Parts: sequence; structure tokens; C-alpha cells
Amino acid sequence: MIKKLIRRVLGKKPAAKTDKKSRMQRIPVSEHQLTREQILPCALKVTDTLQDAGYEAYIVGGAVRDLLIAKTPKDFDVATNATPEQVRDLFRRSRIIGRRFRLVHVLCGNDTIEVSTFRASAASEEDDTKQITDDTGRIVRDNVFGDLTSDAERRDFTVNALYYDPSTEEVLDYRGGLADIRNKTLRIIGDPATRYREDPVRMMRAARFAAKLDFRIDETTRAPIAELADLLNNVPPSRMFDEMLKLLLSGHALRAVHQLRAEGLHHGILPMLDTILEQEHGKRFINAALHNTDLRLQAGKSVSPAFLFASLLWHELQINHHKRLSRGELSIPAFNEAMDDTLNQQRSRLAVPRRLDGMMKEIWSLQVRFEQRSGSRPYRLLTHPRFRAGYDFILLRAESGEIAAELGEWWTTFQTADEDTRASMLLKEPVSAVNPKRRRRKKPTVVAAS
Ligand code: ATP
Ligand code: MG
Repeated sequence: MIKKLIRRVLGKKPAAKTDKKSRMQRIPVSEHQLTREQILPCALKVTDTLQDAGYEAYIVGGAVRDLLIAKTPKDFDVATNATPEQVRDLFRRSRIIGRRFRLVHVLCGNDTIEVSTFRASAASEEDDTKQITDDTGRIVRDNVFGDLTSDAERRDFTVNALYYDPSTEEVLDYRGGLADIRNKTLRIIGDPATRYREDPVRMMRAARFAAKLDFRIDETTRAPIAELADLLNNVPPSRMFDEMLKLLLSGHALRAVHQLRAEGLHHGILPMLDTILEQEHGKRFINAALHNTDLRLQAGKSVSPAFLFASLLWHELQINHHKRLSRGELSIPAFNEAMDDTLNQQRSRLAVPRRLDGMMKEIWSLQVRFEQRSGSRPYRLLTHPRFRAGYDFILLRAESGEIAAELGEWWTTFQTADEDTRASMLLKEPVSAVNPKRRRRKKPTVVAAS
């Protein structure tokens, strides 16, 4: 602060300084324009408190990157040389979380700041009980602490390894992240193949960031991906779900999923993607689902992960259903079994949590009910708690040409129409061959739209 004041009084423009040993550049605010006011107050409270207690503390990762390209950060992360226990002792509302990496969550109001202790570099592990790799080189546990330099080396991409000190308003840049931001380039830190072997998820992250930031992936960073893509099969399915959800909720899901496919990374994630995208309806359906997701997020609306995965797996469900039908199974039981087949196949690669199963199955099962437009059935469907999700889903099917556009339009009108219009819209009930009397069933009286 004092240094800054003196600079202001003297009106000097400080230039970037490079620390020869660590290759770290200190870039003054005059060169990057990121001021303290742009930082979330809760994050400032965390860095100020840690610094006042004598520790180093910086804003790091996505927040610095996004602010430098004038995007609104999703969250603010802090890196410090205080241990998780030392951090926890400084903040009343805080708790230590995580096993693979121990972190502290500090809360103020509705905000949560993730505070991580500087990590040691992978190469300088003295204590191999704290960092454990499996036989493919993947790091399965990692709790060795280091300094700022080693922390920077352990981050994935240069643009994610920028540290911002709110008290001096300087950006600390170890690997040319600021230049890469200016050149719109995503570049991994260190030897690409080694970094992907340590953590194959970094390959998916490359696709996500390239899509989200609209950056190109540097050639050296991209080159080993095709060959190493299968390493994603070693990643625990629950972690695959977490990373995939980040990608789908990035606001650029459409671009990111196509980027995954372009890099050949989808085999271990959505094995059916190739088959779906090769087929006109499938391609239109997936693209419409992802595009709608992006639009909703950009408009500040919520997106349901169950709806998203129900969309991504819809065509796989169709294939499984047809397999069972061709074996002579009856349609409805075959559909129910096919839903389980689809969810179980998916779980071995990328584990959609079981708590989403119920909603996904409801969305899928409701689809056939949208085809029933006679008698009391449409009225009953309107009152179903998942009507909205089922309706949004049928619109996607209509948009992709899988079903007639007219069916979607019928439901759009029916939901909001008055009672007489609704009654006039009902289709004639087909005469049941088994029980001709069914046709004469009474129509229900008024049912409100949900
Ligand atoms: P977003 O805005 O999408 O959250 P982010 O960069 O903040 O992007 P996070 O997944 O929140 O991404 O991770 C925070 C930071 O932690 C990253 O910027 C990066 O520096 C580091 N990081 C996260 N995951 C990895 C990883 N698998 N390998 C190395 N560094 C990682
Ligand atoms: Mg983040």
C-alpha cells in the first residue's frame, strides 16, 4: 500500500520486474489494469487477514484470468503459505475439506472462498507418503506443501497460474500467462505428456477452457492428447462427472463438447457421441440441448444436471430400447429395463450420481405420455410435478425433427389455453379393440396448468 502511495505521489509508472531465479515477473497495475475494487470483498477479507497475520496470500486461478479478459469470475480462489489448520484458525466461519487435496472453505455471507496451501512441485517430493501416484503416473493423493514457485509449476495452464496481490495490485506471472491471455493461447505448464499422465482430467480441462475462453490450444499442448486420451479411463467415474459438469455448465457447452470430440476425448466420457452425431436427428438434438443450456446460463437461469444428462443419454436409451424390442420384449417393460441399462453403462465411465436417476427416468418416461392427447390424460399430465422438464424435453425432440413439430406446438398451446379451447383440442380417443366401452369415459372438469 505504502509503495503504491509513493508511486502515486511521484507519478511514476513502475515497469514489470523479473526475478531471475524463479523467472517470475511482477507486473504493475498500470500494465494490466486489474484493481483491488474488482475483487470480491470476501476474497479481499481473506487475503488481507492472512497477510496481516504475516502469511503470503494471493488471488489465483480462474478469477484472475477472467478479470484480465473482462469476464465475470465464477468464484474466487486464494493461495497461501499458511497450512489448512493455520487458515482455519484465522476465520470463524471456515472448515477444512477434501482428501485428495486439503483445502479450507472460508464463508462470508453467501460467498465461499476456497483457500489452498501452496503445493510442492511434483519433482521435489521428499516425502513420498504424502504424494502417491498409481502405475500410470496419476497422482492419487497429494498433500505436500511448498512455496509460491512450486505452486505455480503445479497449476495446469499458464493462464491459470497468475497470482494477484490485492495489497500491491501486482500480478505475479511465472510462465508467461499474461502474454498467453493476450495471444488467446492455452498452454500447459511443463511437459505436456507428463502433466496429462499425472492427471488425465487436464486434457478435458484443455477442451473446456479453449471453448469457454475462445482460446486456441497451443500445438505442443495439444499434440499428445490424441495418444493419451484413453488415460481418462483410469480416472474415478465420480471425478469424471464433476469435470464434465463443469464443462457442461461453463456457458459454452456446445463448443466444449465439440472440442472434446475434436480432441478424441469423448470415448471415455460419452461413448455414443460419435454414433449420435453422425445421425442427423441425434446431432440436432444434442446441439439443441447444449445450445439451450448455454442460453439459459447466459440469461442467469438455472440448469438441471439431470435434464442435461437425460438429453445426452436419450439416444443411447433409444438404442437400448430397440435392442430389447428386437429380442421380443414388450415395449413398456423393455423401456424400463433400457433406462437401467443406459444408466448402468454410463456409470462405469462417468458416474452420474444416483440421486439424479429418479428425475432422469421421470423425464424419459413422461415422453410417451405427451403423445396421448385424448380424454383426461393431457389434463393429468399438466399436473405432473415434472411436466415442465418433460415439456422442455419434448420441445428438443421436436426441434431436432425426431418427432413432428406439431406435437410440441400442441402442448405449447394446450398449457395456457382456456378451458373451451383445451376441450376442442383433444383428439378423438381411439376405439380400444379390447374394450370398446373405454371410449365413453367421462372428461374431467377444470384442471389448472402448473
Ligand atoms: P472456472 O472459472 O471454470 O472455475 P478455474 O480456472 O477457476 O476455472 P477450477 O477448476 O476452479 O478452474 O480450478 C482452480 C485453479 O486450480 C485453476 O485455475 C488451476 O490453477 C488449478 N487447478 C485446478 N485443477 C487442476 C488440475 N487438475 N491440475 C492442475 N491445476 C489445477
Ligand atoms: Mg474456479
